[in-house]
Amino acid sequence: MHTSALVLFSGGQDSTTCLAYALDRYERVETIAFDYRQRHSVELEARVVVLQKIREQFPHWAHKLGEDHLLDLAVLGAVSETSLTRETAFKMESSGLPNTFVPGRNLLFLTLAAALAYRRDLQVIVTGVCETDFSGYPDCRDDTIKAMQLALSLGMDKRYLIETPLMWIDKAATWRLAHQIGGSGLVDLIVEHTHTCYLGDRAHLHAWGYGCGSCPACELRAKGYAGYLASGAHQSVQAGIPTKAGK
Ligand code: ZN
Repeated sequence: MHTSALVLFSGGQDSTTCLAYALDRYERVETIAFDYRQRHSVELEARVVVLQKIREQFPHWAHKLGEDHLLDLAVLGAVSETSLTRETAFKMESSGLPNTFVPGRNLLFLTLAAALAYRRDLQVIVTGVCETDFSGYPDCRDDTIKAMQLALSLGMDKRYLIETPLMWIDKAATWRLAHQIGGSGLVDLIVEHTHTCYLGDRAHLHAWGYGCGSCPACELRAKGYAGYLASGAHQSVQAGIPTKAGK
């Protein structure tokens, strides 16, 4: 039985939902993120605030939430030319992929996460990759993750489980999942403190959170939030009731 997890936690909506998912079901949870000289350090700042707010507002999770690890991955920014690491506008490439695609990024993240999980004796790696919405990033595909799970388990001679709670759900369902796990308190925390906008905009507050409102990440987040409200899930009285056994 799995009791401990390492969450790839960037400070965005998806990874915060994954963190709550892990805290809801595992006894010991640690977090990891990578500084690859993203154009905006807003996300890296957001993650510190989100961790602090979770500790304050979810005392039944606070004791499970262990060390946070921030690894320097400047080398990734050095080898890639993308709109996430350079001052270039978002656009679609002729390959059909957006220029926010950083080749090898998730493969590298998972490899380093597994190496850290090995040292910290953590059994499960949780990541918010998703095949459902937008992007089509090839390193977010379910097959890629399964291949990585196999390669890492063989290569480190340790049985890893890589969990992807968001793989087959859209953004509206991601908001619903957050509500199901942590109630409106968690949804409010995600709205106010997580960051997704590609432009690093923290000046404009919308119902769904801060952002420019017009980049693809903002559009996706806003559309998902509207779908979440339309579903009526935010009014559910089941909110905040623990969803998993074994706590
Ligand atoms: Zn934006």
